Amino acid sequence: MKLLRILVQNRYFGPLLASLGMAIVVLVFNVDVLAGESGNNLGPTSLAVIAITIAVVLAALFFDTRGKFARLNNQSERVSEMADRLTVAIEKLNAANADLQQSEERYRGLVETQDAFIVRRTADGLLTFVNSAFCEQFGMDRAELEGSNFTPDVHPEDYGIAESLAPGLEAPPYRIRYDQRLLTRDGWRWIAWIDNAIRDDAGRILEIQSIGRDDTARKLAEEQLKGARDEAQAANRAKSSFLATVSHEIRTPMNGILGMTRLLLETELTGQQYGYASAVRQSGEALLAIISDILDYSKIEAGKLALDEQPFNLINTVEQACELLSARAVEREIAIGATFAPDVPEFLYGDAGRLRQVILNLGGNAIKFTDQGGVMIAVSVTFESEAGVVVLFEVTDTGIGIAEEAQDKLFEEFSQVDSGSTRRHGGTGLGLAISQRIVQRMKGQIGVESAAGKGSTFWFMVDLAFDPEASEATVAPDALAGQRIMLCDGNATSREIIHRSLTALGAEVSASGDPEQVLQFLAQAEGDEAIFDAALIDGAFPDKTITELGRKLRQSAAGGDCRLVLLLRVDQHARLEPYRQNGFEFYLVRPIRRRTLVQVLTGDRNEEGDWVDSRLPPEPAEAGAGKPMATVRVLLAEDNRINQMLAEALLGKLGLETECVGNGREAVEAVQKGNFALVLMDVNMPLMDGLQATREIRALVGPNASVPIIAMTASAREEDRQRCAVSGLSAYPV
Ligand code: ADP
Repeated sequence: MKLLRILVQNRYFGPLLASLGMAIVVLVFNVDVLAGESGNNLGPTSLAVIAITIAVVLAALFFDTRGKFARLNNQSERVSEMADRLTVAIEKLNAANADLQQSEERYRGLVETQDAFIVRRTADGLLTFVNSAFCEQFGMDRAELEGSNFTPDVHPEDYGIAESLAPGLEAPPYRIRYDQRLLTRDGWRWIAWIDNAIRDDAGRILEIQSIGRDDTARKLAEEQLKGARDEAQAANRAKSSFLATVSHEIRTPMNGILGMTRLLLETELTGQQYGYASAVRQSGEALLAIISDILDYSKIEAGKLALDEQPFNLINTVEQACELLSARAVEREIAIGATFAPDVPEFLYGDAGRLRQVILNLGGNAIKFTDQGGVMIAVSVTFESEAGVVVLFEVTDTGIGIAEEAQDKLFEEFSQVDSGSTRRHGGTGLGLAISQRIVQRMKGQIGVESAAGKGSTFWFMVDLAFDPEASEATVAPDALAGQRIMLCDGNATSREIIHRSLTALGAEVSASGDPEQVLQFLAQAEGDEAIFDAALIDGAFPDKTITELGRKLRQSAAGGDCRLVLLLRVDQHARLEPYRQNGFEFYLVRPIRRRTLVQVLTGDRNEEGDWVDSRLPPEPAEAGAGKPMATVRVLLAEDNRINQMLAEALLGKLGLETECVGNGREAVEAVQKGNFALVLMDVNMPLMDGLQATREIRALVGPNASVPIIAMTASAREEDRQRCAVSGLSAYPV
């Protein structure tokens, strides 16, 4: 069967079968012969053979046909499978086609409904696509535009912008942006373009697609805004300049009022007159302070805050500021003082005037907002900088404090925590803003730490260079090393200031606010077999307490030989005498200078037993006492009669002879004739101003040409200072 199947499946089967048939026929005819049967009729063997042969052939035919059928069946199944797949593919293709059509319609819809212009052009400038917005704005048909190399008219001021940026299309991100004005149906419009390069796989630019938006409204708004800003800036400058002029104009008569009041107070007055005149002076000073703030602020606003950096003594600067503030502190019966960490250098380089101004601002506020306790100005070094040290100034008060939420805005101009109509404290709200600008100008920082009801610490840090020509420190950092000092001061702030100052200088301090404790300190020291080198006693204690303390100290073994020092306020001089008898040899006037503190605690005791005024430097021997002083003549060129009177009185007090003239021309004539040691020259005068007069004096022949000339003006503007310098003035006080 197997052979048969092979044969059936073989395509040579037909001929093979035929040959087999033939062979069988031949065989049939001969079978009978072989079987020994004769005759022509077919014998049974032949018939059997034929039957078998037919059967074989039929079987073969059957198998062949079945095989063919099977194959045909197979093939037709495959074909129908393929047909199925083809149908699915066609369906998918149809769906994709529909999607594509939809998306193209959507895309076209998008492009066509855009207000923006959408344009594509070849690298040669031929338009390949334009959207409806473009056609509409330029009043042309799409058919006209596409295929043409139409370009809209560009505003002459915007020529070349796109061309200059074009190289940007050849490098990533293959995009450029620019604005230009185009002439459209609605006239000149600002169009903001974004051009994108469309590239082939090799990176060659095929087309450039540009999307342009009408930006005219924004541009116009921008221009209006710029115009408004320029106007506002000009108005601001005008305002600052106006403020500077007004404050200057107010300052001049204010100086007259204050100066005259000062002179008046020095004359013989009744108690009532003195009271009234003092009130005028106080109000005048308050007004002058406000005017100075406004003038300063307007100067800073106008960008004219110039630093005047020079070598200066840091300790003196802070102590002087502290002394200036002390009058107000005394009035409010609170303490004030400065203290310096041991490593604070004395000689530095910077703008001492501006530093003092910030300290005065912060200190002034601290006094204003403190009813009890006091104000401590502590100076320390934060770290060393490249050229010097970063100095930290902390102004701490025991006043009303500031709630945290109010602290953020404090340094903004005109900001006041209590700005209601019932506010207790005066002020313009400019002090901190000015201080901040100054500190920022010095590249420093300023800040505050405070809590309502708990007092405040306003601090600022500035980097100050060392003075390259610094002399040796006037006070050694360990000047009080080895000294044991008793301090009894009823005011906690003042006690802390002095305590800190003494320890910074190396002393060992036993401090208390309670006089009873002094006796305990004495007993303790006696037990330790130690003695006190000095005892500093608060002059504000009742007389009896002070006398008692003095006596007990003197009688004790630990304090018997110590320096007894009374701590006094400026207005307490009258209290000295009774204590002298109780052994008080020295007094220190608050706020205590570091140098005098050291002098009093280490200096020679006065042999004659005179009281040593530890604050004021020894009076210089009266100049020329006994012999008549050579007359020094000063020329005063000033058109304001009050200022003339004032200057004359002040100069007269200094023993100088004054000649007054009312304008520049008279000043030049007077210098030509006279022999003056100094000229005080008002800058603004009728007929000839001070600057012209100075130039003419400098042009004179002879020694009078080089007479020192000092400008007198309340103008603090930098350009005025420059003008004065150029005209040959020797000095310019502000
Ligand atoms: P002025 O004191 O003239 O009002 P400043 O700018 O100096 O203006 O101060 C702004 C405000 O900050 C003050 O009005 C006050 O409310 C608050 N302030 C400043 N210093 C202190 C302080 N030491 N204690 C409490 N409040 C203070």
